Amino acid sequence: MPGKTGTAPGRKTAADKLSSLLLGAHMSIAGGPSKALERGRSIGCTAIQIFVKNNMQWFAKPFAETELEAYWKHSDRPKLVFGHASYLINPAANNPEFRDKSIRALSDELIRADQLGLPFLVLHPGAHMGDGEEAGFARIVSSLDAVFALSPQGKCRIALEITAGQGTSLGHTFEHLATIIELSKFQERLTTCLDTAHLFEAGFDISTPEGFWNVIRMFDRIIGRDRLAAWHLNDSKTPLGSRVDRHEHIGKGKIGLAPFCEIMRSEEFSALPKILETPKKEDLKEDVVNLGILTGLLA
Ligand SMILES: [Zn+2]
Ligand SMILES: [Zn+2]
Repeated sequence: MPGKTGTAPGRKTAADKLSSLLLGAHMSIAGGPSKALERGRSIGCTAIQIFVKNNMQWFAKPFAETELEAYWKHSDRPKLVFGHASYLINPAANNPEFRDKSIRALSDELIRADQLGLPFLVLHPGAHMGDGEEAGFARIVSSLDAVFALSPQGKCRIALEITAGQGTSLGHTFEHLATIIELSKFQERLTTCLDTAHLFEAGFDISTPEGFWNVIRMFDRIIGRDRLAAWHLNDSKTPLGSRVDRHEHIGKGKIGLAPFCEIMRSEEFSALPKILETPKKEDLKEDVVNLGILTGLLA
């Protein structure tokens, strides 16, 4: 008799869980950052991820006062907004000019993130461009240290994202992320972000509940749960260990629903934002479908 008999004290109903969720999708900031809040809330997001400027450009003109005001005064806000750094940035680049540009761009993005009060900015750690892992890690750490040194008063942290391991990209094992954190002079400003598609593509078999929890225990051992800031919820078009990153709609790819079910249902992740980065058009209809599938897993 669902819905009629009342709920035992201490037992959360699906509706309670929904209102306490931090669930949403990546939202465009076209038209200004307040528009992202509007887009997210228009489909019921309680958390969103944004780029802090046009993702295809290295640098952008500073936010106008009016843009910041519209953002801060926006009344219908998701509970949590965080950022994703531009894909152009490569802290491990071997070309000094490219690396210098990456440092300047990332430091600029952190300033913009602080202006928007974002707690962290998700970053793909970088690609070593053929110079090997050790050289790559050294460059990532020195680039990130340079970025943090430029903003000692900055608040926004960087969340290193697990990657699919495409090409010479680093960050496709937990050891990689732990190495970067351990070598950094600014450990307190580093956290991590897990992406279901990237994990699977990098070879972590999360397609069963057992497999998923084994991976989580491995994460806890190597990095530590206090350094998990967010989930990216994406299915994968490519198979386990493909090292090729192609996001797919939830339940339509090679992963299946098991890890999404665990992430949505487990109290262990209730305080973490869960964000879709699946393909969509401007009307956000695909997001609505994917969010419906995810909330359906709560029942
Ligand atoms: Zn992601
Ligand atoms: Zn991806």
